[in-house]
Amino acid sequence: MIPTELSTHLTETLDLEIKDTQPLSGGSINQAVKLSTNKGDYFLKWNRSAPDDFFEKEADGLKRLRDAKSNLQVPNVISTGKPEPGRPGYLLMEFIEKGRTGNSFEFGQKLAKLHQTKAEQFGLEMDNYIGSLPQSNRQCNDWTEFFTQERIDPQIKMAVDSGKMDAGINQNWNRLSSKLNDIFPATTPSLLHGDLWGGNYLFDSSGNAVMIDPAVYYGHPEMDLSFTKMFGGFSAEFYSGYESESPLEPGFSERVPIYNLYPLLVHVNLFGGHYTSQFKSILKNY
Ligand code: ADP
Repeated sequence: MIPTELSTHLTETLDLEIKDTQPLSGGSINQAVKLSTNKGDYFLKWNRSAPDDFFEKEADGLKRLRDAKSNLQVPNVISTGKPEPGRPGYLLMEFIEKGRTGNSFEFGQKLAKLHQTKAEQFGLEMDNYIGSLPQSNRQCNDWTEFFTQERIDPQIKMAVDSGKMDAGINQNWNRLSSKLNDIFPATTPSLLHGDLWGGNYLFDSSGNAVMIDPAVYYGHPEMDLSFTKMFGGFSAEFYSGYESESPLEPGFSERVPIYNLYPLLVHVNLFGGHYTSQFKSILKNY
């Protein structure tokens, strides 16, 4: 099940004696298993076609979230490896035992605290990935400029270059982007999870929210909150918890589809299909 070169590597470098592996579904990008070993259980994922720094960047994002002192839990990273001839890139981390339910109110509060971790500029000092796509984090002082140039423009270019959309889409997008300065409320750059849809957190057996698969950068806090509304999976208590720490600015709900043009475009580029028509129809509404 695990590529032999990878299990040999883990045994040699970490002295792990692998007793059992259990495949885990749910991920769209990588292969994942629960590893039972002489040292306890671990979560292992790997990918043969991932870029060299793919798992290092994921580990870096998890570390930034952990260091933010918001008390939001993230799995402890044990080790990462770049792809080598014959061996896939991998990420080994603490295995989180899932619980049936969790404390959503507290999750919301902790996310608001995470967003109180601030930086001088939007972006990050390094690029990373969202899903399997590159995410550019060139730092800048203006949120609208960052959202336009680092989030939407590169994804539209990718979609046009791959033939998923025609270049005429730029005209519709330019019409909306020229209004964004008046639409986005002013903010200072907040540390974001960056890909906070319902599949990227789980409740552990004590009911604590644990965040996984981040695409971190400093951005507008409404961006993370909008992601949570992309496919649902976050309860009313979650938003109450968030607002108990950081009340939302008026008009947030109307801005959600604009922030979510980004995850929508990511889906266009990863999967195409109906996401493309959804993207076009949202642009038309503006
Ligand atoms: P991908 O990177 O391919 O999207 P995921 O990281 O989402 O894969 O993981 C695949 C599955 O494993 C999901 O069901 C997820 O909930 C679960 N999972 C992810 N990280 C852990 C972990 N540290 N412990 C236990 N389960 C995990």
